[in-house]
Amino acid sequence: MSDKEKLIMQEYGSPTAESTINGCKKDNKRKLPWYFASGFLLFWALLFFAVVIPIFYRLPTALTMEDAQKNVFIAERAYKDLYYLSNIGTKMVGSRANEIEAVEFLLKQLNQIKEDSLKDYFDIEIDLSQVSGEFIYSDLINMYQGVQNIAVKISSKNSTSQNYLLVNSHFDSKPDTPSAGDAGFMIVTMMEVLRVMATTKQTFEHPIVFLFNGAEESFLLASDGFIKTHKWAPNLKALVNLDAAGSGGREILFQSGPNHPWLVKYYKKCAKYPFGSTVAEEIFQSDALPSDSDFRTFKKHMPGLDMGQVINGYIYHTKYDTIDVIPRESLQNSGDNVLSLVRCLSNATELHNTEAHKIGHAVYFDFLGLYFFHYSESTGESLNFGVAGTALILAFISMWRMAAVSHASICYVIRVFIIVHVMQIISFVLAFAFPIVVAYAMDSFGLSLTYYSNLLLVVGLYVCPSLIGLRLPITIYYSLQRNNKISSPYHLQLALHSQASILAILAIFFTVLGIRSSYIFTIPLIFYVISLGLNLMTILHDLGYAWTGLLKVSQIIPFLYSSYLFYLFIVVLVPMVGRSGSAFNLDMAIAVLAALGTVLSFGFLVPLINTFRRPSLVIFSLVATTTLAIYLASSTQIGFPYRPKTSGHRVAFLHVRNRFYEYDGSLSKDESGYLFNYQDRREEKALEGTKVNLTGLVSIESNCYTHMMCGMPLFDFRYVDNRFQSKWLPREVPVIPPGSIKLELLSKTILNTTTVRFEFSMEGSAQMNLFFQPYEDVKITKWSFLSEYLDNPPAYPLSYHVCFNYGIDSSPLKFFLEITKWNGNFKVPLFQMGVSGHFIGYKRDAESEKFASSFPSYAILADWPSSYDRYIF
Ligand SMILES: [Zn+2]
Repeated sequence: MSDKEKLIMQEYGSPTAESTINGCKKDNKRKLPWYFASGFLLFWALLFFAVVIPIFYRLPTALTMEDAQKNVFIAERAYKDLYYLSNIGTKMVGSRANEIEAVEFLLKQLNQIKEDSLKDYFDIEIDLSQVSGEFIYSDLINMYQGVQNIAVKISSKNSTSQNYLLVNSHFDSKPDTPSAGDAGFMIVTMMEVLRVMATTKQTFEHPIVFLFNGAEESFLLASDGFIKTHKWAPNLKALVNLDAAGSGGREILFQSGPNHPWLVKYYKKCAKYPFGSTVAEEIFQSDALPSDSDFRTFKKHMPGLDMGQVINGYIYHTKYDTIDVIPRESLQNSGDNVLSLVRCLSNATELHNTEAHKIGHAVYFDFLGLYFFHYSESTGESLNFGVAGTALILAFISMWRMAAVSHASICYVIRVFIIVHVMQIISFVLAFAFPIVVAYAMDSFGLSLTYYSNLLLVVGLYVCPSLIGLRLPITIYYSLQRNNKISSPYHLQLALHSQASILAILAIFFTVLGIRSSYIFTIPLIFYVISLGLNLMTILHDLGYAWTGLLKVSQIIPFLYSSYLFYLFIVVLVPMVGRSGSAFNLDMAIAVLAALGTVLSFGFLVPLINTFRRPSLVIFSLVATTTLAIYLASSTQIGFPYRPKTSGHRVAFLHVRNRFYEYDGSLSKDESGYLFNYQDRREEKALEGTKVNLTGLVSIESNCYTHMMCGMPLFDFRYVDNRFQSKWLPREVPVIPPGSIKLELLSKTILNTTTVRFEFSMEGSAQMNLFFQPYEDVKITKWSFLSEYLDNPPAYPLSYHVCFNYGIDSSPLKFFLEITKWNGNFKVPLFQMGVSGHFIGYKRDAESEKFASSFPSYAILADWPSSYDRYIF
């Protein structure tokens, strides 16, 4: 030991066996007073609220017309377009608003852009097209007729490239929403990008096709038609897709490729305000979220980037998706990003031969929107394995050093480590178990979603219990352990090594599984490795608690990153829980996410609380916070999930008229009522104590065992998947839908002894559904719809389902079925057929108006008149 070391040892106290006799007492002297523990936790809380949150919501200054000469994206201009577009109101496929008014508005603006463009530099071609077709999507056939696309191609005069870049978004909407955010926002962004490019003397190599598509919301129809039939489709090589699941913030890159890491390279190089994560991509592509985008259609034909607005998902697909909640700064953010990204990609050499650049996946993420990291999946694997391996090796070296300094055997230190490790694993498990218990218990008492409007409750309900879990076993262990051979500071380091080895094992495990998101374990680990390495290189490792300084500093960056990332997930996913159906307790998912965020943000910090006196006080304050949060959530208005307008209770129901016709044509049943498809876990319980009269509400589950399609117009997969949770409320006054579906049997022809052919014609609504179910011994062997669907009928034994939408072309749908029956007896019932229609531009009748107006102000109704006629042929 050098003189200098001896000196420091005297000052800090040596960690050797002799000096730790009465270790606890001595150790306590070295510890900081208990109130520093609160300061320590407050520091990290402050870091989150004063740094992470403001950065998360930061937007650039919106440019105005004064900047118009600078050839940059002008938010003010885009905002003006959005004002007109969203004022058109609801734009359902097949409605006048969508097919005529929106199309006219867009064409007018686009023609103006063409008029104002630099004609010596660019050619602009505007193409309005109608498409028809069909495809299989989620257990049903989607058939469409005359849906519209407006495609604009801009190319530089000096370019001969036949490889085009596609930029896509949609202008149609769900029922009853002005769809300012989804996706009017992106439509006007595209328009402004085109406007700037067309008036700037800056040419580019590859032509760009801007696709303003008129049918996305009903199962991605227009994109399907476009890619299959449009004259420019064969030239399209890469895609920038723009959509929304929220409104008014920064747009996130949430899907890329697949398999084309060069696209993310351009995003990194060009996006001005990068925001994106592989984790978001992997979550989205697991199909766990109730969202979809045209990217699904296009990715089969070309690689691309999928970007969307994600914050404030509460208003998504509701009447509150208005321009008022969109700051101009948000348009500036997306506009700057899209403009510079499109410029870069339109000069990308990779576009000449994209196949040659199909090399593996990418790992990518932004650090607080300030810097974008991007590397290949294989680099990611090496990095994860390398860091995990280094952490394990350094932990071993550290233990060896502890043994040497403490005059204990390495076997002894490893034995202690194993005990500490078991405690740490228990901590890790409890960090997840406690929040899950809270989520489970709250849900059991009907108190799910209490944090829906108050995200701060997530901290009290899930983050604090997770911290308690992390803290409790180690606190108990240290208060009980009387091991004096190695010092308390060493014990503490062993706990941190244990935390590091858990992360290392998780990083290795998930990397082996091929999960690119495993980088989230590597980030805190890298910084732990750095601080441990530095502590080992200096003698800080062996000087009491002196090593904690470097450790604390090193954890600032991983803390900022992990808390930022998990805040993003909470902000995005909480509103989605409000529309994910009622079948599952999704509070559990939020609890697990919050716990994972806590473990990654605080994993190396929580054990440091032992460097303060009376660390159990921290546990008491965490328990007190959790108790307070549970009280606020369960017994006060704070925990009531919904608020009018901003975060309402989504109530979706159809005004249904069901008519059952028998084989002889007689009407055997004619019922009217409301069919509820609950969007969240609270179901009708959210309406208890209000004026809404739900007397007579019944589950439709039993119908599902006796009737085709539960005897109800289950028109999309959400209604189908959630059918056992769906409820029916009969009403006395018949529902009279504003239109009716006219089904006509054109002919019934016996083709041979076993086969008969039926021809039909159907018309009456832009949204129609057909359900078929043959009786026993009968088979549909041929029909006019996609034949591959007949070969692979839907997994659930409900019925064959064809969904039919039309855009501008309302001509009747003509179709045929060929039915085979081996005994050739066609004079008995052969099959059931259900026909349902949904009607746009409707007005509620007096009865349903009365019903609708009884809902409390926090309910956002999505109600729709619907007819369902069942026939037997
Ligand atoms: Zn959309």
